[in-house]
Amino acid sequence: MQDLIALVGCEDYDEREVEERVTRAFDLLGGVENVVGRGQSAFVKVNAVMAVAPETGIVTNPRVTAAVIRQLKKVTDAVVVGDSPGGPYNRTLLRRVYEKTGVADVARETGAELAYGTGTVEVSLPEGKALKRITLCREMVEADRLISVSKFKTHRYLNLTGPIKNLYGCVPGLTKFVYHSRFEKPREFADLVVDVHLASGASFHLVDAVEVIDGDGSKRGDKKRMGVIAAGDNAFALEALLVRLAGLRASDSRVLSAAVERGICPEGVDWPSVLGEETEQFVMSGFRLPEKTTFGERIPASVTGHLSRAFNAIPLPLAGKCTACGTCAEVCPRGAIALKSGLARVDRSRCIRCFCCSELCEFQAIGLRKPLLARLARRPTI
Ligand code: SF4
Ligand code: SF4
Repeated sequence: MQDLIALVGCEDYDEREVEERVTRAFDLLGGVENVVGRGQSAFVKVNAVMAVAPETGIVTNPRVTAAVIRQLKKVTDAVVVGDSPGGPYNRTLLRRVYEKTGVADVARETGAELAYGTGTVEVSLPEGKALKRITLCREMVEADRLISVSKFKTHRYLNLTGPIKNLYGCVPGLTKFVYHSRFEKPREFADLVVDVHLASGASFHLVDAVEVIDGDGSKRGDKKRMGVIAAGDNAFALEALLVRLAGLRASDSRVLSAAVERGICPEGVDWPSVLGEETEQFVMSGFRLPEKTTFGERIPASVTGHLSRAFNAIPLPLAGKCTACGTCAEVCPRGAIALKSGLARVDRSRCIRCFCCSELCEFQAIGLRKPLLARLARRPTI
């Protein structure tokens, strides 16, 4: 089923509707036997990036995950489900995230095993552009089949996140942020995400785009209905289709652009062969990308670095919302956040504007301090 994408409409997260639509997606691609062999082990890698309720739209909806697992269970009992969330890779965090995101309920309901293995393995990727050896979660990459069940939404740093970026979650816990600190520019980070995706060896991808998030990323964006479940064996093709359904161009997805430049996939968003329903009926209008946080991207870093305050937005922890939980300080790849007097404070000189802090703050307590130029531009002239 090379590059073939199954596209099915799905109105909402009604259990029966989701079950039917996921089944149809598998059927369009020739059935579950094309996804996993009889008796093979399968790891279902969801997006459970943080401990939030499914209703937020930030994580894969558990009904979608459960429907995928029920398909897999037709041919194998060896199904494990889980993720490596942002934060320390340990059982305590995993348990909290699984309970809150509904992954634990899915495991109870379907009989799948919850992933608590915290072992890691180094994977060699000679064709890697950012890294040629990558540390990944052992349990995920050593399964016979790694199945990705992702969420489509905006991302402050990469513009969009979906089937390709979901596999970045194969990097264990805080190692994600260590890697991030080495690849500061969005384009470099996009190359790293593509590398991790390739190294993961994921063989099947289904995306939950029933509800998507547009605007300013997971925590500050808005939930919208795209009404789609799509699946296939090529995450780049799947991402290209989703970008098209969002009414965007390939260049709007930093990871897709990186993959195009590396010759991993064709240019544009019209190349996947789509089975199932007509794409045009799902194309959204008014899908908003995140607000720009860097101005003067074409100006040399030596200039923008000195004038950082003028060109770059930075995260702004909000007094009254910040609970001083410390998560942002823990995940910041540059150690740019410290807790002072009950409030997180950002050291502008260290911040690389990756917005991991904002993405992972469970209290939506991180706003955006706009760059001086943007603030001046909005000031009325007299
Ligand atoms: S900004 Fe958010 S993550 Fe950081 S300390 Fe405050 S509440 Fe916690
Ligand atoms: S302060 Fe936030 S945006 Fe800045 S480097 Fe740290 S995590 Fe990234």
